[in-house]
Amino acid sequence: MASREIINLQVGQAGNQVGEAFWNMLLAEHGLDQSGRYQGSDPLQLQRIGTYFIEVESQGEKRYVPRSTQIDLEAGVCNRLRSGPIGGLFRPDTYVTGQPGAGNNWAKGFYTEGAELVDSLLEVIRQQAEACEVLQGFQLLHSLGGGSGAGLGCLLLSKLREEFPDRMLATFSVLPSPKVSETVVEPYNAMLSVHQLLDTSDLSICIDNEALYNIATGALKIKQPAFPDLNQLISKVMCGISTSLRFPGQLNGDLRKLGMNLIPFPRLHFLMPSYAPMYDTKAQAYQGTKVSELTQALFDRKNLFVACDPRFGRYLTAATIFRGSVASREAEYAVLDLQKRNAAHFAEWIPDNVSVSLCSVPPVGQKQAATALANSTAIQELFTRTQDTFTAMFKRRAFLHWYTGEGMDPMEFSEAESNVQDLVSEYQQYQEAGADLEELVEDEVYEDEEE
Ligand code: GDP
Repeated sequence: MASREIINLQVGQAGNQVGEAFWNMLLAEHGLDQSGRYQGSDPLQLQRIGTYFIEVESQGEKRYVPRSTQIDLEAGVCNRLRSGPIGGLFRPDTYVTGQPGAGNNWAKGFYTEGAELVDSLLEVIRQQAEACEVLQGFQLLHSLGGGSGAGLGCLLLSKLREEFPDRMLATFSVLPSPKVSETVVEPYNAMLSVHQLLDTSDLSICIDNEALYNIATGALKIKQPAFPDLNQLISKVMCGISTSLRFPGQLNGDLRKLGMNLIPFPRLHFLMPSYAPMYDTKAQAYQGTKVSELTQALFDRKNLFVACDPRFGRYLTAATIFRGSVASREAEYAVLDLQKRNAAHFAEWIPDNVSVSLCSVPPVGQKQAATALANSTAIQELFTRTQDTFTAMFKRRAFLHWYTGEGMDPMEFSEAESNVQDLVSEYQQYQEAGADLEELVEDEVYEDEEE
């Protein structure tokens, strides 16, 4: 069956480390070993494998090679990946690294060192795009708090937007948390990134290290979670969301359809993922797997990958994806029932705003699981948190010379600040909106049609 391909781009330390966890999980789901040879027994594993893998044949042997480019401004993390267990899975010429690193400075990633690397990087990506039949789009894995993933990641997105204007650009963006990292300039890097993502990305799946940390210490009972623990969680969500792109099933979609269902207004494209069930391995045998319980958990704050409280906001839209043997009627009923019981938290002016998809293939080692992506106005909490620390530093011009030293104009900081401030206000406006909003929506649709 023809696949609509996605090219993965992993940039910087977080991007490459999350990427490593993601590819490991994909290998297991599709029955591939660490060098990309098929060892599985379920034909469903191969039907749409072309979404993320290229099939190559050499000396009579078939291998599946990731559609992926591994990028960094310093070679350390990529070298570790290359010499690790799945290093040989990737084509050697798809590792693109620079020197000497971005030193957590967004300006180096976007304006100076990153800009020097970006042309050779685009050349590699172009070749991968040419190898696709029907490229649906790109997914960028990166953190927003550092220099490479944030700065170069955003620069790369803007270049891809120019070169592939009609392909989807999706990001998995890891937001900084003071609990996990202590680099003081992270709020600067994150705000400058969001400022860019507002324009260049079609949909950004926000992952908040603070929420992951809470899940790891809480539900998973890990005393001192390290990045591999957090990245394991992220890859569960990444595999969950892409299930219907990778396996045949009901309501199969592509990235564009996902975006169309989830994003009612183009700027409000920052989505919150959640996953269920979530428990430590010792408790696995005692875990209920009723569809209603899974659904309940998906909309529970404790299962959310962003440290926001959805009870303080409204869901504009959501997509749920159930895996394993789940009857569609049961899943649809569970979702509708949950919406009815929590009506105040769902925007009533967007009809059918929660979608349900099903895939019979469960994650490896589980019978059933579910993932959701929600567009909730509660996400403004995340941006407000980042903005508050940004503003406290920017008022004093703290560390600004790191950025101006790379040629950046302080105006860009002010613009980022007001752009994110506007975003927060827009979320607030739709949160408070009721019936009169219907008029506003109609006006916007009308204007769009006129364009
Ligand atoms: P870059 O290499 O310049 O892009 O910088 P990093 O990716 O190291 O960015 C720093 C931010 O990413 C901080 O907020 C870190 O907490 C976070 N980070 C770094 N590595 C990881 C990782 O493997 N997983 C997760 N979840 N976050 C990470």
